[in-house]
Amino acid sequence: MIHDTENLRSDQIRTADVCVIGSGPGGAVVAKELAEKGLSVIVLESGPRLHHSNSTREPGSFLSRFLQQGGLRAMLGNTFVASMQAEAIGGTSEVNSAILKPMPDAILKEWIENYGLTDLSVQEMHGHYQAIEAELNVRPSEAEALGPKNLVMKRGLEKLGWDSHPLSRAVVNCEGASDCLTACPSGAKRTMSVTYIPKASRAGADIYPSCRARYVLREGKRAVGVRADILHPKTRKPQAEMTVYAKAVVVSAGVMWSPILLRRSGIKGNGWVGRNLCAHIGTAAFGMFDEEINGWWGATQGWGSNEFFHRGMVLEALWSPPAVLATRLPGVGHEYLRELKGFKHYAMVATKPRGVSRGRVVEGLNGQPFCTFRVKQEDADETAMGLKACVDTLFAAGAKRVLPGVYGAPWVMEKPEDSNVLLKKRFPASSFEFVANHVFGTCRMGSNPRESVVGSWSEVHSCKDLFVCDSSIFPTGIVNNPQETIMAFSRRTAHHIAERYA
Ligand SMILES: Cc1cc2nc3c(=O)[nH]c(=O)nc-3n(C[C@H](O)[C@H](O)[C@H](O)COP(=O)(O)OP(=O)(O)OC[C@H]3O[C@@H](n4cnc5c(N)ncnc54)[C@H](O)[C@@H]3O)c2cc1C
Repeated sequence: MIHDTENLRSDQIRTADVCVIGSGPGGAVVAKELAEKGLSVIVLESGPRLHHSNSTREPGSFLSRFLQQGGLRAMLGNTFVASMQAEAIGGTSEVNSAILKPMPDAILKEWIENYGLTDLSVQEMHGHYQAIEAELNVRPSEAEALGPKNLVMKRGLEKLGWDSHPLSRAVVNCEGASDCLTACPSGAKRTMSVTYIPKASRAGADIYPSCRARYVLREGKRAVGVRADILHPKTRKPQAEMTVYAKAVVVSAGVMWSPILLRRSGIKGNGWVGRNLCAHIGTAAFGMFDEEINGWWGATQGWGSNEFFHRGMVLEALWSPPAVLATRLPGVGHEYLRELKGFKHYAMVATKPRGVSRGRVVEGLNGQPFCTFRVKQEDADETAMGLKACVDTLFAAGAKRVLPGVYGAPWVMEKPEDSNVLLKKRFPASSFEFVANHVFGTCRMGSNPRESVVGSWSEVHSCKDLFVCDSSIFPTGIVNNPQETIMAFSRRTAHHIAERYA
């Protein structure tokens, strides 16, 4: 069951076969698979429960309530890269665009070879992808839910003769409310809180919202449980302590928190815990059309292109609440007001290279993740190339002007040839407005304990009975959106855990 932690005001002790930290795509899959196989499972989630009624078109209050660090997390280095992670039952699946795709087989083969992961196989992973896609009703976005902003992208891609396809999403009867970032108002999005978590709960898992794990309890080189704070759901201040004793512990707290929990528990992985932060660093161009686009109608991200997939880059239609996007409009005062009035004429196309840049996560003085990230010139060059493709798509679709959002390039481009400047000049990383919501690598997987944190079954090399199941185990970026692959790896590990601890 999903417990009401508000009333837990005295210290609690529980026991289970497995304790899972985090209820995002990584943790939710482990909880459901293990509970359905008859193991007793406790899930500790630092965030509160999120209901459809929490959905709002006013992002400020929503993001501050349901996103880590109020949605204002930034990776700092030679530039500023915004990065969002949710803090709620269901994790970041609650605020994402529900695009589900498996990782490319070629990248899995690269991992097998480069990181000695010979237990992994493409064929086995395909079985997990199929099971997840069936569970979440993954299929190409339906025409009725697309709305003009996705169709504009389709038109541009077709005019250029480029690859063009509806993005596969995990939804049922999507109404195209375009509110994915602030929680689906109709419950159409197949997030963890409406799929895997209720199934885990029905199979007997005990789920505790507002319970923030502090560290993993160890006896020598074995994990034996978790110590957590029970938070007051409104003030978010600790009101009591929860101790869970378990045969195995699964850390699924996401790329930012999993390394912090491991380090607090004395696990450094030869210096690799928190290192190797990888990201798909994304940015987008805005196109203004004569016709009304009304971007607040239609699937948040319903259309895409794999034209540059061979370069490790995808193009996707994009939307988020106007209050978030409008910060990109040019001008101040009356000029800005004029732009705002034209907002209904804008559509966006986004790009995100796989990325070779790396960063690090450590625990900041406030106890929150502190991330550094250095964007290499190679990634800045790829971004410029991707942005040119976004600008070209928008002009081909009939945009009258395009805002590429690159400092040092014209802020407003009036004709298709203007995009050539993006390839003629070299733009440093600080020229771009980056967002990286696909992050990886801070507890990376590998066969060599000197160069990785977990082995091929996601068990920490230096600590028995301790597993990591989230995208922190991915050694590199994967080009495609990561949720389905995270879930597939978690499903695989869950079956392994079930065999070992049943
Ligand atoms: C705006 C946005 C759009 C996106 N769109 C897509 C998309 O369309 N498709 C896609 O594949 N991916 C998308 N992503 C990325 C995707 O959502 C994430 O990669 C995925 O959710 C990561 O899953 P996870 O389980 O690793 O971590 P999370 O989903 O982040 O879950 C981790 C959970 O652990 C909890 N936690 C953290 N610390 C503790 C602690 N100490 N104790 C207890 N609990 C803790 C957190 O509160 C959180 O609920 C998007 C992301 C964003 C932000």
